[in-house]
Amino acid sequence: MEEFPMNFVLPEPLNGNLQQVAAKVISDKRIDRHDAEVLYNEAPLGWLASLADTIRRRINGVNTYYNHNFHIEPTNRCVYNCRFCSYNERNSRTVWDYSPEEIGRLAASAPERITEIHVVGGVAPGRGTDYYAGLLREIRRVRPGVHLKAYSAIEISYMAKIDRISLEETLSRLKEAGLDSIPGGGAEIFAEEIREKICPEKDDAETWLKVHETAHRLGIPTNATMLYGHIEHYSHRTDHLQRLRDLQDRTRGFNAFIPLKFKHANNPMREAGEVSVTEDLRNYAVSRIFLDNIPHLKAYWPMIGRDIAQLSQHFGVDDLDGTIHDSTKIYSEAGAEEKNPSMDETALRSLIAGAGYIPVERDSLYRPLNRSEH
Ligand code: SF4
Repeated sequence: MEEFPMNFVLPEPLNGNLQQVAAKVISDKRIDRHDAEVLYNEAPLGWLASLADTIRRRINGVNTYYNHNFHIEPTNRCVYNCRFCSYNERNSRTVWDYSPEEIGRLAASAPERITEIHVVGGVAPGRGTDYYAGLLREIRRVRPGVHLKAYSAIEISYMAKIDRISLEETLSRLKEAGLDSIPGGGAEIFAEEIREKICPEKDDAETWLKVHETAHRLGIPTNATMLYGHIEHYSHRTDHLQRLRDLQDRTRGFNAFIPLKFKHANNPMREAGEVSVTEDLRNYAVSRIFLDNIPHLKAYWPMIGRDIAQLSQHFGVDDLDGTIHDSTKIYSEAGAEEKNPSMDETALRSLIAGAGYIPVERDSLYRPLNRSEH
């Protein structure tokens, strides 16, 4: 038998709880909330990475996806005042509210190569579907053929209230105006006792889920998010993941899950601080393992920084968002790593390949595009 050097310390054997969870994951069985909390609380980080990577390879092989996209934030005026928000007019250093014509000009200025425009912003008072559908038509007019991923569930539910129409009618009008899919924002943390503290005026979890369920029924795919690392506990995260997994079992309409790290600059919750990088990685891994029915796990690189985004691929992440190309303010105002996020394709591909995965340019529905010159 080989001798180890005197100072070499063998890793502790896994405890029984972890062995049981690992046995489920490896034999392709679902883990439950209790199992997920065991992983959050007890799993050694390197071991957790291997487990998440097993699932990631089962679903996505060694591909890591990216796209050419462009972000537009129409306004930071907002009827709500979420305590974690560094972006709305009350907490931001600047206030903006683009006219439809300005938004058209912004869309027209986006690089030729983009395949997707992502539109999300504050919930400006009094605006209903006519206004939001008009923005979509204006973008469609100047950029026909580009996929329009637009409006959080919170914006959509507000439009429905202003117009006094159903969510189904609201979404149908938006779809008719060119909406292709819906981003995942506004989910925050579903647990009511936390929502009451961090975003008391905002729609509740049931409304968020209902918007997405209705969209799925109308054939509009969506994404889902979770704001983590503030005052929530692991049990709140597993409750959130469970509600998403349950909805996905019924509809299969979610494309991707995007954990969003709470950033503490310039908002009333700054005292909460920020969680560590290892906590970010742990959260990616547990999400990947638990959400066995949502195909993609996205790390939004401007928020966590390029190095952690690269590393996150070993913790289940298979999508690094895209080139972005805009002065996105939602996270930069909150102290995100990237102040004016934009990355060219060569840099994005090398970030992916540097961790040993294969960069694949995708469209908004995760179909490989095979148009790279690399
Ligand atoms: S998080 Fe969104 S809904 Fe809440 S205050 Fe900020 S912009 Fe408004």
